[in-house]
Amino acid sequence: MCGVFGAFSHNGHSVLEDVYLGLYALQHRGQESAGITWINSDNTMHSQRGNGLVHLALDQSELAKINTNCAIGHVRYSTAGGSDINNAQPLTASNSKGSVAVAHNGNITNAEALKQYLENRGAIFHSQTDTEVLLHLMAHQPHKPFIDALIDSLRRLRGAYSLAIILNGTLVAARDPWGFRPLVLGQREDITYISSETCALDLVGAQVIREVSPGEVVVIDKEGLHSIKIPVQVKRHYQCSFEYVYFARPDSVLAGKSVYAVRKALGHCLAHRAPCPGAHMVTGMPDSGTIASMGFAEGSGLPYEKAIVRNRYVGRTFIDPTQRVRELGVRIKLNPITELTKDQKIVVIDDSIVRGTTSQRIIAMIRSCGAQEIHVRISSPPVCFPCYYGIDTPSRVELAAARMDIKELQKKIGADSLQYITEEDLITAIGLPKSELCTACFTGEYMEGEEPDDLEL
Ligand code: AMP
Ligand code: SF4
Repeated sequence: MCGVFGAFSHNGHSVLEDVYLGLYALQHRGQESAGITWINSDNTMHSQRGNGLVHLALDQSELAKINTNCAIGHVRYSTAGGSDINNAQPLTASNSKGSVAVAHNGNITNAEALKQYLENRGAIFHSQTDTEVLLHLMAHQPHKPFIDALIDSLRRLRGAYSLAIILNGTLVAARDPWGFRPLVLGQREDITYISSETCALDLVGAQVIREVSPGEVVVIDKEGLHSIKIPVQVKRHYQCSFEYVYFARPDSVLAGKSVYAVRKALGHCLAHRAPCPGAHMVTGMPDSGTIASMGFAEGSGLPYEKAIVRNRYVGRTFIDPTQRVRELGVRIKLNPITELTKDQKIVVIDDSIVRGTTSQRIIAMIRSCGAQEIHVRISSPPVCFPCYYGIDTPSRVELAAARMDIKELQKKIGADSLQYITEEDLITAIGLPKSELCTACFTGEYMEGEEPDDLEL
């Protein structure tokens, strides 16, 4: 999963700080690397990229000195390609027609086939990312204006792409025809923004204009906004339901639905689907289960307690993994409050179980604090299938719910009971039609029969 952000000032105001701030607000979408590309007054393109969190990867004081009216940025969570700095985005390229920079969220499912095809025609790839195929597809159409080469290249891609692009000094937003990943447009004074989520627009003080529609390319230049359709016919849309469950920030709004409200509704559904009579209280796994646990408490009438405390200063690479530290494991990050849990029958809510290690460790910890019974409730259906559309889930053999039935999984994680919501509950809580949503990691029903008819360039 990744995050993209872009800004264009119609009156030549500087936008680089806004793009930096936008990436800061999208940090939850990727912590592996961050990058910004901008256009200078002489129309040349420049970039800063680095590994790690935004404030470590990018030099804010250097960026603040630069005056540019057009810039894009990216935070990366590696799905395709490793953590090599060559895979950090935006990716840039130029030829005699001009220059292009691309920041991509999603995963192009036919990237390998396209790469083979392009390599056979002489292309040499610089990175391991799926995104680079887009630049090569464009480069192989030198007879066309850049924007036409872009649209023609996009129509050959399958899978998920939400893009922020700089094309010869104009800003371009593009979203795949299936609408897998979010992408929204915003405005503050003379600046137009592209963002993965609305929370980043809030930070720069922009109002939401609208979402980029599935299959739409929006060109943002001095003349204003201009919309073009990617010529691909689709049977239905596949907006990612897992964004609501876990990935997006709760203060974002996706497709008109507040992520916070959906998580609360998931908790309500869970209380009705899998009640826990006789329990003393409900608590949530911080922070992923917090909002759903509040919904469960409301729906069940049980009191909500913040019984597990998170050390909010723990980062990803924080301490040497000595044997003692490994044994402490999740306790470094999370700690139950013994005074609340002792002799209690507790409902513990989390948004999902992937490999099962987090729940197993937390349950052992709560039990060691004297809890009498621990009932685990999950505010999504069992994750049984990998995602091919840009969320980093392990292969099927590593997914706990794919290897075991619910009783076996309950035993593995050490819970007194374990229950989930259903796919129907998930769709009801989101409030969008089933035909608009992807639920493939829960059901195995991937996008089908939408292969490109021709590759020939
Ligand atoms: P696990 O220990 O593998 O079962 O991980 C479950 C936890 O990881 C849950 O608390 C989720 O909130 C969180 N989670 C779910 N999906 C992902 C993902 N794609 N990347 C990182 N964390 C995730
Ligand atoms: Fe989202 Fe799951 Fe579909 Fe991937 S498979 S796009 S995580 S709903």
